Amino acid sequence: MLESHSTPAGGKLPPGMVLGPDGKPCKVCTGFKAWTKEHSKKAPKSHSKATASAGAASAAAGAIATSAEPSEKSLPRDCPADVERLGRHTWTFLHTTASYFPPSPSLAQKSSMLSLLTSLPTLYPCSSCADELGSYMKSHPPKEAVEGGRSTLERWLCEVHNEVNERLGKEAFNCDNVGQRWRDGWEDGRCD
Ligand SMILES: Cc1cc2nc3c(=O)[nH]c(=O)nc-3n(C[C@H](O)[C@H](O)[C@H](O)COP(=O)(O)OP(=O)(O)OC[C@H]3O[C@@H](n4cnc5c(N)ncnc54)[C@H](O)[C@@H]3O)c2cc1C
Repeated sequence: MLESHSTPAGGKLPPGMVLGPDGKPCKVCTGFKAWTKEHSKKAPKSHSKATASAGAASAAAGAIATSAEPSEKSLPRDCPADVERLGRHTWTFLHTTASYFPPSPSLAQKSSMLSLLTSLPTLYPCSSCADELGSYMKSHPPKEAVEGGRSTLERWLCEVHNEVNERLGKEAFNCDNVGQRWRDGWEDGRCD
């Protein structure tokens, strides 16, 4: 998400900022660094009681609070997910679920898995990611992969993830290693 996008009105958005379906900047579609950099330029929001009282305490003690550059900040653990945190957690869930899918699934298991995957382009909260996924799934539908059971599903999902990696300029993952990464642990034993 490093490229600069255009607004519907033709204006330039700051690098990394993505618009949602409502035409407004989309927080869950944008990386925290790009989001906080842009928002720190605007008037500060009213602080929470805790922040305000911490600020008052430092002022009283004569301390000048120095904060890191916004671009160096990372998303605090208890804040709403940005596009990266949402992505990492979702991939963990999806790959782990695929790696524990039975080699010979029942009809009910196949139907549930298909519903889970086909619901993503509608429900995934990063709308721009969901749109890209929906287009990919039109040309690479998951039905056959699900029918084939665990190993075909693992590979299909690995290829979906690699399509996103490629779009984001990241290295492709070797899909032969998906079982080690998400179920068995690496052969060198470091996960045991
Ligand atoms: C469905 C979906 C669509 C997304 N679309 C976008 C988008 O359009 N734009 C955007 O900016 N972000 C998107 N993301 C988020 C993006 O894919 C990353 O999750 C995010 O950038 C954080 O990347 P990361 O480098 O931490 O590792 P991630 O890509 O989150 O990967 C997590 C771990 O998975 C393993 N892994 C990597 N590739 C594979 C693979 N092919 N198969 C199996 N395991 C693998 C690696 O061990 C890696 O550390 C999407 C996420 C999801 C779930």
